[in-house]
Amino acid sequence: MRPTDAPLDNLQGATRKGLCLVLSAPSGAGKSTLVARLRAEFPGFAYSISCTTRAPRGAEENGVHYHFLTREDFLAKRGAGYFAEWAEVHGNFYGTPKAPVEDKLSRGQDMLFDIDVQGALQLKAVFPQALYVFILPPSKEVLERRLRGRGTDSEEAIAKRMKNALGELNQAGHFDYHIVNDDIEEAADELRAVYVAGRARAICRPGLVPGLLAQWERA
Ligand code: ADP
Ligand code: 5GP
Repeated sequence: MRPTDAPLDNLQGATRKGLCLVLSAPSGAGKSTLVARLRAEFPGFAYSISCTTRAPRGAEENGVHYHFLTREDFLAKRGAGYFAEWAEVHGNFYGTPKAPVEDKLSRGQDMLFDIDVQGALQLKAVFPQALYVFILPPSKEVLERRLRGRGTDSEEAIAKRMKNALGELNQAGHFDYHIVNDDIEEAADELRAVYVAGRARAICRPGLVPGLLAQWERA
């Protein structure tokens, strides 16, 4: 069987354009869990490494999980137009560096973005051709239970995340896909289907038809 991350284009030299897959969700809906599964399944996916002003957590490494910046550095980069989008999330700044994204896409590499809802909506103005996926919790009650079960947030932080979730859900209509993360296997299947179908879009395979036509011309 073909490895799942092998190029799907079957013509030699057919140029590919990378696909952007943007995932957003209310905190606790299971976005990190789904991102980890997708990246494990498709190791060829380039992950957009964001800049943030928050401190590293646990085993997080600079340049791998995030580029950890001081507030001053972040604001200077923001002023210089370094970010494709940026947002303040839970009191810290986060931003997506623009140049590496454009570079990777032009080289045909697919890119995965794990960004907040405000950021995803800004990114839509810059990369309208990307696929925007909103991960939904099955219910309010389950979202709260997952936030509590994760054991990383205080009661105050959980209340704030639940309040933010309402505002984020109100923006869900701007996204192309709504995936309910109830059963993790079903949610992961749907996300894989979105990605695999996205890779087959004509705009991601601009070299395919010219490559075929050239075979007629040579004949
Ligand atoms: P997010 O990145 O969206 O904040 P996480 O991926 O950290 O969310 O998930 C929040 C919690 O819910 C974690 O403890 C995770 O293990 C759990 N979780 C994620 N998806 C599911 C699921 N489908 N069923 C049950 N628990 C889940
Ligand atoms: P965390 O601090 O838990 O890693 O991330 C907090 C939130 O910030 C998550 O919702 C995550 O998706 C979001 N985030 C991470 N990087 C970016 C980014 O570059 N831009 C925006 N807008 N949000 C981001």
